[in-house]
Order: sequence, then C-alpha cells, then structure tokens
Amino acid sequence: MTDDLATGDLAARAVALDAADPLAAYRDRFLPAEAVVAYLDGNSLGKPPAETAARMDRFIRDDWGGRLIRGWTDEWLEWPARIGDRIGALALGAAPGQTIVADSTTVLLYKLARAAVDARPGRTEVVLDTDNFPTDRYVLEGIAAERGLTLRWIETDPAAGVHPSQVADAVGPRTALVLFSHVAYRSGWIADVAAITRIAHDAGALAMWDLSHSAGSVPVWLDEWGVDVAVGCSYKYLNGGPGGPAFAYLRGGLQDELRQPIRGWMGHRAAFEMGPGHEYAPGIRALLSGTPPILAMVPLDVSLDLLAEAGLDAVRTKSQLLTGYVLDLADEWLAPLGVTVTSPRDPARRGGHVTLNRPGFADLLEPLWDAGVIPDYRRPDGLRIGLAPLSTSFAEVHAGLSRLRDLLTG
Ligand SMILES: *Cc1c(COP(=O)(O)O)cnc(C)c1O
Repeated sequence: MTDDLATGDLAARAVALDAADPLAAYRDRFLPAEAVVAYLDGNSLGKPPAETAARMDRFIRDDWGGRLIRGWTDEWLEWPARIGDRIGALALGAAPGQTIVADSTTVLLYKLARAAVDARPGRTEVVLDTDNFPTDRYVLEGIAAERGLTLRWIETDPAAGVHPSQVADAVGPRTALVLFSHVAYRSGWIADVAAITRIAHDAGALAMWDLSHSAGSVPVWLDEWGVDVAVGCSYKYLNGGPGGPAFAYLRGGLQDELRQPIRGWMGHRAAFEMGPGHEYAPGIRALLSGTPPILAMVPLDVSLDLLAEAGLDAVRTKSQLLTGYVLDLADEWLAPLGVTVTSPRDPARRGGHVTLNRPGFADLLEPLWDAGVIPDYRRPDGLRIGLAPLSTSFAEVHAGLSRLRDLLTG
C-alpha cells in the first residue's frame, strides 16, 4: 500500500487510499443514486443516508400518525434545542444551551445580525467581505438600510479568503459587527476564526460567523474561539436534505443581551398561555419565532447519528486526503489543459472542497451530468469539486475527474 501511495500512478493511489480508508464502509449507508458515477457536490446538497428514508417513514406513521397533536408536548417542542445541542456537541465545539435549529440560514442571519447591531448602539459600521456568500451580503445590505449603518467591505482574494490583517485594518471604534464565513464558499479557504474574533472584540465589536461550509466537515470550536454568534446550513455536509432547517449559535453570556427582531409565539416565555405582549423565552429558545419544522429535522437527526459514530476528526482527516487527491489529479491531468486551482494548497487552510477554473467550464456541465459526473458549477468558469467524506470514495473522485479530463481533451 505504501508503495502505491508513493507512486505516481493515480489510479493505483485511489485503490490504495480506499483500502486504507477507515470510513470506507459509510459510503454503503447512503442511498445509491442510479447512473451516478461520481457525486462531487456533497458540499452543496449532501446525499441521503438509507436510514433517513426508514426513519422518515417511521416518523410519519408512528409519531405524526400515532401521536398526532400530542407529539408537540411529548417531545417535538424540545427538538429545536435538543438537535441544536447535538450539532453543538458534534460539530461546533459548543456547550449545551447555545445552539438551536430553526428557519433557514438566511432568516437566522437576519435575526442574529439585526440583534447584534442593535446591541451595539452608537456604532455605525459592519465589516464584511466582498466574496462572502450572496445571501450574507444581501441580508447585511438590508439591515444596513434599515438601521442607517455603513458597510465596510474587505476585498478578498477569490482564490483565498479573509486575513486577520485585513480585518485589523477595517475595524475600529465605529464597528458594531463583523461577519465572515469560516470556510469560503468559493475557494474553500479556512479563515482564522480565533484571530479574527479577537480582533473584533479588541475593537469592541461582535463577531458573527457563517459555518455553512464547515459544519460537519471542518472542526469548529465556537466556545474556545470566543465567537459571539454563528449560523449555518444543515443540508450541506450535515446531510439534512433539501431545504433542511438551519442552526444558530448564540454565546451563553449574550443571550439576555441580543434580542432577535421576529417575535413569534414559539420564542415566547410561555407560548401556550397566549397572553398579551411578547416576552422572550429564557436562553436559546428566544431565537425561535414560529412553529419549528419538525418533519424536516428528522433527516438531520439521522445524519448526526452517522457523524457521532464516525467522529468529526476522522471525517476531517479523510476530507484532507480527498481534497489533496483532487489537487494531485488536477496538477497531473488538468493543469496541462489550462485548468487552474483556485483553492488553498495548504491542507490546514483548505476546507472540504476544491475549486477549479477554466474558461468554458460552463459548457462542460451538461456533458458531465450526462456522463453521471456531478460537480458544482460557479459562474463564470469555476467547477467546485465538493467531497463529502462519509459518502465519497477516492475511486469515485478518480472516475469523475478522468471524465472531465477526457471532455477537455475532446
Ligand atoms: C449555502 C449557504 C447559505 C444558504 O442559505 P439558505 O438560507 O439556506 O439558502 C448561506 N450562507 C452560506 C455561506 C452558504 O454556503
């Protein structure tokens, strides 16, 4: 095996890496996708575990069908905080009582960013970067317009990401909040959350992080890093399914101070008293607004079982091997064909996906899909190779990128 790993034979290396992969068996626990040769988009929509189908069926028959309305008081009311705590423990380095599942990432971004800027009255600026995911930028543009704030934009290198020194230059006594992504959705760059959060705090600002591309793939230590607020998706590496609800983290010490603006009955101190006037529920429940999407939390619970079993450290180790293998394939096969890598070379700075660029990639998407190879396309000419460690094999990566190479050589 060691010999194969050291040789330049890329096919033999895939075989050897799969043989040595302690997580290899997890791949069979996901539903097979017919005629898919290589699924390289697990960072955008994770695959369903087979158990998810069984659990959904059981939930509908026994829980929804059997318990009916009693399900709410039996247990569903506790699900947002219960599953939030599971995500916190397994993927976020967050002690209990600080993470909740609700809404979409966009809506949680709005609720928490609004709460954060309102908690720093007199401060008039929010610092963010030009390459953050569109919804993050749009939501903050909306809040800035609503609250009369100025957005201070950091220009980031799209092949890398935001640097602590850039943040240090941008923050000051006027900064209310900084918002960045832990893993850049385009390049896969891993930001130095601890350093940037410290810089924000030293300036008296709050630090908010979008974990959509790290949760379940790259270890996160929110409590240790001193992060104030974070949000993220469940449907990417956490395999929560299309449109699965998002999660939010609010540091314990800030829970009486940050007040989210969408005051609904489910975030009320006593939801079922239905009394006059809103009073925030104690703790993390105050982040809830309306009825939580219980049905859509079932797949997330199943996927968290898988993550608990596999362990995030093993997932991260395989992720680094997968992205490293993609870089090797890109260097040997694709670079001579004009493809450039716009992701970090340093495995410690690289998240779970690799972006390749070449003019004309847009035209390859359809033939790739026809051939059963499914990467992610980012305008204008980027292919994102997303590698979900629990459901992706090295042989699959080899097959997918060799098809891409063949299309490029025509
Ligand atoms: C995927 C993603 C989102 C998606 O937000 P939704 O509200 O679920 O559409 C937000 N932010 C980042 C960084 C993402 O990668």
